[in-house]
Formats: sequence, C-alpha cells, structure tokens
Amino acid sequence: MVLEYHLITDHNSDYARERGQFRKDLELLYSRGYRPVNMTDVLDKKLNLPRGLSPVVFVFDDASPEQFRYIDNNGTLEIDPTSGIGIWLDFKKTHPDWNNKAVFCLLNGANAGHNFFGDRGIQGQKSNWRFRKVKWLADNGFELCDHTVWHAQLNKFSDAIVQEQIARNALAIDSAVPGYKIRSMALPQGLWPKNRALASKGSWMNPKTGKTVSYEWPVVFEVAGGPMRSPYDPAFNPGMTPRIQVIGNAIGAMIDKLEKSGNAYISDGNPAVVAKPPAGTAAVSGAKK
Ligand SMILES: [Zn+2]
Repeated sequence: MVLEYHLITDHNSDYARERGQFRKDLELLYSRGYRPVNMTDVLDKKLNLPRGLSPVVFVFDDASPEQFRYIDNNGTLEIDPTSGIGIWLDFKKTHPDWNNKAVFCLLNGANAGHNFFGDRGIQGQKSNWRFRKVKWLADNGFELCDHTVWHAQLNKFSDAIVQEQIARNALAIDSAVPGYKIRSMALPQGLWPKNRALASKGSWMNPKTGKTVSYEWPVVFEVAGGPMRSPYDPAFNPGMTPRIQVIGNAIGAMIDKLEKSGNAYISDGNPAVVAKPPAGTAAVSGAKK
C-alpha cells in the first residue's frame, strides 16, 4: 500500500485527516503488522523487514505547516507535537521499530503556507525555517519528492512550463539539501502533462544563472488506483505508482482485502532471498555470496 495524506489537522475530509484519527491509523497499521518504508527502499528492493511483517509507504503531499510545524521556545525551535511529524515522533517513542520513513512530496511556492511547510507567519511559521525543515526530514530518514512549485495542473500547460514547474521544485529541494537525489514526483491532482514523459524526465534553463536544471526519476505517483505491485512482480511499474487516498476506513478495508485475496506482501525475513527459485534449482541460502 502507498498511502496518500494531505493535511493533518482538526477534522476529517477528503484532503484532511484529524490528528487523533491519524494516530489511530498508525496504531492500526502497526497492530496489523505493517512497518513504514520509503519508496526508495521499494525501488532498491531493500525492504529489510523481519519475517511476517509487511511494508507500507506513507506519502504526504503539499508541504503544509499542518504536516510539519515548529514552535519557537525562547529561541530554540521545537517540533510542534500537534503537527503530523510531531504525532509520528510521539508514536515512535512507544513503537521503536516504527522507522522514520515516509515520502514528502513538496511544494515550494504555493499559497496558504504550502511552501516547504509554512512561510510568512502562516500558523506561526517563519519563511527562514523552511530549508531547515526540509533538511531535517532528509537527515532523519524521510524521503523528499517533487510536486511542482505551486501545484500546477500539468495537463493545462505547455511542455516548457511543465518542465519549469518540476525543475524549479527540484532546484528548491537541492537548495535546502544540496546534492539530494530525488527519485519520485507526485502529479498535482493526478493530472498528467500532455507529454507524459515530462513527468519523469526533462530540463529547464534557469534564466537567472543561465544554467540548465535537468531532472530524471523512476517514480510518478498517481492520486488513486489501489495497492501497488510488489517490486518483485514483473508487472511492477513505478512510473505509474497507484496510491490509496486515506479517507474514512480506507486503510482497514484495504488490509482486509489484501489478506483475503492472499495478495499482501509479507516478508520472509531474509533480504538475500528475493524470490522462490525456479523448480529444480537449489534454494539460495541466506548468506551473502
Ligand atoms: Zn497535491
């Protein structure tokens, strides 16, 4: 399952999860044997989960302050315990094998504070805290993902604007975390550009510097579509990664469905064994060659 979250706030809606409900989502997943992984772990087949556990990819879209807020405590910046990251870290205290793994699909120039988690005093967030938050995420195990500058509906724009929107977001992420290798992007509202290939590869010339910014990655997140295929499945296609919108009981219902159908990914506990060997060949032992 690749879960799609937006705001973590005081009510539930299609684009908001109430804080207590978010905490319950973590409890539910944990108790049903799910542990968070990054999309890069899926791509690289480095899930490394103990036997019997299942991976889940959290994706948080739109870089809102509701996801990651600081409180200025006499000059010391502290993570607001009521923001999404605050709730995550508190959950982790009592669930130590809940790793800091989740994908943040960022905006760096949208309105209403959707600019690297809040700017210009929105929800008390200072503009100069933005890079620090993005870097904190990267430094603490989370994954960064491109989501355009201001959530442009990519189907409405020319190839040039599509590439500018995506490349400028990548450039901003690189400014916050120099050298960071982005491996995924999320389509705003799930809308593909007319030239679909530009979602995963393109370039734009920065007129300020005259330098060309190029981007290329394997993962494009869609907004819906159910669970994704395992990376060991020949039909695995990260270039069109479906997601599950976390609305109502979507998580519990999907866990039940996967279990009933026998299609849940359950770790055999041995990362060296990537698949059952074909009949007639010797099984690969757990030891690395
Ligand atoms: Zn979005």
